[in-house]
Formats: sequence, C-alpha cells, structure tokens
Amino acid sequence: MFDKILIANRGEIALRVLRACKELGIATVAVHSTADAEAMHVRLADESVCIGPPPSKDSYLNIPNLLAACEITGADAVHPGYGFLSENARFAEILAEHNLGFIGPKAEHIRLMGDKIEAKRTAKRLGIPVVPGSDGAIDDVDEAMKVAKTIGFPVLVKAAAGGGGRGMKVAQTADDLALAISTAGNEAKSAFGDASVYLEKYLQKPRHIEIQVLGDGRGGAIHLGERDCSLQRRHQKVWEEGPSPVLTAAARARIGETCAKAMREMKYLGVGTVEFLYEDGEFYFIEMNTRIQVEHPVTEAITGIDLVLEQIRVANGGDLPATQDQITISGHAIECRINAENPETFRPSPGKIQRYHPPGGLGVRIDSAVYQGYTIPPYYDSLVGKLIVHGKTRAECLMRLRRALDEIVVDGIETTLPLFRALVRDHDIIDGDYHIHWLEQYLSGVDRDK
Ligand code: ADP
Repeated sequence: MFDKILIANRGEIALRVLRACKELGIATVAVHSTADAEAMHVRLADESVCIGPPPSKDSYLNIPNLLAACEITGADAVHPGYGFLSENARFAEILAEHNLGFIGPKAEHIRLMGDKIEAKRTAKRLGIPVVPGSDGAIDDVDEAMKVAKTIGFPVLVKAAAGGGGRGMKVAQTADDLALAISTAGNEAKSAFGDASVYLEKYLQKPRHIEIQVLGDGRGGAIHLGERDCSLQRRHQKVWEEGPSPVLTAAARARIGETCAKAMREMKYLGVGTVEFLYEDGEFYFIEMNTRIQVEHPVTEAITGIDLVLEQIRVANGGDLPATQDQITISGHAIECRINAENPETFRPSPGKIQRYHPPGGLGVRIDSAVYQGYTIPPYYDSLVGKLIVHGKTRAECLMRLRRALDEIVVDGIETTLPLFRALVRDHDIIDGDYHIHWLEQYLSGVDRDK
C-alpha cells in the first residue's frame, strides 16, 4: 500500500480523502495556497506544504510546486480530488515519470473521455446508447444544417472540450444555428483553447441519470447503481439522489451492466461516472467523468461502499471490494449542495461564518471543511458543505432531510439553505416528478409544465 498520499485539493474533498487515508493507515500531506493556511484540511493532515498564492493557477494547478511538495515530504502518491488537476492526463503522466502514483484512471482513459467527441465515439463502440447527433466535429454551417435537419430541431451545439456547463448553445430553429455554432465555439475557444463543436439532439424534458462504476484496471469492473442529478441550475447540479425516482430495478440492472461491461472492455481503473440523459424510457450517453464526483456520498449511503477508500485500493493494484452480485442498493439517499450564495440571485457570498451548527442523528452526514469562525475565501468554488441524508424509503429520506435542514445553522454568510428548505416541501419534489429544466422554471416563477 502507499505510505504517504499528497492530497492535491482543498475544501471538503481534501478532508474526505484524508479520512479514507487515515482509515487505511496512510500518512497524509495537505497542500494549500496562502489563502488556505487556516483551512481544516491543513489542520487535520499529518504534514502540510504551502504551494503558492491564492489564484488556483499559481497554487492548486501548479504542477512544479506539487512535485516539489511530493519531493520534500516523500509522498509516494497523489490524490487529485475533483476539479483542479483531477482530469488532467498530462499530470497523471508527469507523476508516473517521477515514480509517483496517481489515484485515478490511466492517463489514456482520462484523455479519451476528456474529449467529448472521442468519448461519444468510444461509448458507441462499446455498446452504450448515445444522443443522436453529428458524427464528430462540425466544420461549417452547411454541414451542421444537414445534420440538424436529419435529427430535427431543436439541436444543441456542444464544445468538444466543454465542461462545467460551458460551451453549450441551443438552436431552436434553423435561423439560430449559425449564431449558436459561433457562440459555443468562441466560448469554448476562450475557456478551453479549443473551438471544435458538435451537434446533438436537444432533449426537451430529460432527467440526468448517471451510473457509478469502479474498475480494477485489469478487466474487472462493477457498477454501483445510479444517481439522479436532474435538479440543476445553469447545468450545475444542486440536488442529487439515488436511486432515481423513475428507474425500475430491471432498467437499472440493464444500463448498469452495459456500463460495467464497457469498463471491463476498456480495462478501466478506479472510480468513474457514466452520465446519461433519460427520456421516455431511453438512455442517452452525454459524457464520462474519470474521477470521484461531488455527489459520490449518495452512492456510498445506498451501497455501504466507501468509494474513496476503494479508489485508493485499486490504484494500488488491489481488488474490487465486491462482485456485482454482492452489491445491493438499500434505501434512499439525497444530497444537497449547500453553497455560499444568495439563494435567489446565486451571487457568491464569501465571508466569515459567525455561527455553525451541523445537524446530526440517524442517517445524516455532513461533508464539509468549514467551522465556526472560518472565513470562506473568495478565490475558489462556493461549496460550504454537502448534506447527505439516508432513509429506508424515499419518503423517510425526505422526512429526515426536512428535519436536518431545519436543524443546520450557518450564520454570517448567505447560503442556499432556504432554497433546499423550500424544495423539500414542494409537491413535485415530494413526488419525484422533475426534469433537468424544472429547477430553473421553479426559480423563475413560471408555471411548471410537465
Ligand atoms: P458538462 O461537461 O459541461 O457538464 P454535459 O455534457 O455533462 O456538460 O451536460 C451538462 C448538462 O447539460 C446535462 O446534465 C443536461 O442538463 C444538459 N444537456 C447536455 N446535453 C443535452 C442534450 N442533448 N439535450 C438537453 N440537455 C442537455
């Protein structure tokens, strides 16, 4: 097993990784920017190294400084968390060149799935159903028009290098197509340095359902059921739950096995998420994330499997924790992403947390790195913490979530807690009757059609 892991991240995920390391008896190294000197992950790690000034590009994304931190501390592997360098294939290669372990997939798979066009091609080849669209990048408007007419409007123009909901534009009719292509292309060029775009059928009211997979890198792979992440704002997930309120056990087994089989064929290593849109009983692949995800605790709650711990084990050549037959989904879990934002305008609200009281009790988990008196710096994402609640049934889970949301106190900054307190009492949410546009319609106060 690894002796010492450097955690190349911050916030709640750094703490999450640290906890898994502690349980495995692995020493931990925290890294931090000057803005994070007081952060919880720094306090709880065995050692810490300052890797630069506040901007991420100078600290958490600074590869030479991370390598130096490994060298100084004698760390033998790096866990990248999510975001930052977690899906940077070159980083994984550089670590290998320095005889350092990377707790994540093989670099070739990160690269493959990081290009959405290649990812879609690969998915198709492996028998995973994809959204109808162009076969690869679209070079000119005439070609795009031909494809759009075949699949039918509205269409979605997506950036090959896209991520975080950026580089996506809808063309409702043929008149909008040229503008959508140039806007998405320009946005992608400035955000990712690559302007290539492709076309997809724009699904009207799908759900976002994703399958959690885990592979041993030698051809063994299992799936751990799904998470429904349909409640989104600006393509960013806000609330995630599992199992999906709309999926039958048979449909789960079928799509899960399709994904696991694809991972076995690829010899995929580590945790991954195969993301789909789901409409009228059909799954459509949109992308694969080759890292641990923010919403992983939902799956941990319903399977009892510690995904981060298993991720570390397989990265070190270990076996999968269970066979597919041994995986059982029990009960229901919901995660709320509590952000330091105004609950109506979503304007970031960094600052000092004056009072903090996390909720507790049966089936309630908080993954957070904040504490009373902590000042949330303005440089990074606005996640304050994740509240994950588990119950025997969805109804019990909602009941418990309502109670936990009433119990939690985060004062001194604005948070999205009031939004969750309202959502958990909304009849559509209680019925599990929502799709990917539901939340934006709810927030804009328009009549909610179904
Ligand atoms: P990103 O990598 O930027 O997160 P994704 O491809 O995962 O992009 O898509 C993010 C979200 O955008 C999805 O969860 C869904 O809400 C929406 N979306 C993506 N593709 C489509 C599509 N073909 N039709 C309708 N909505 C889509």
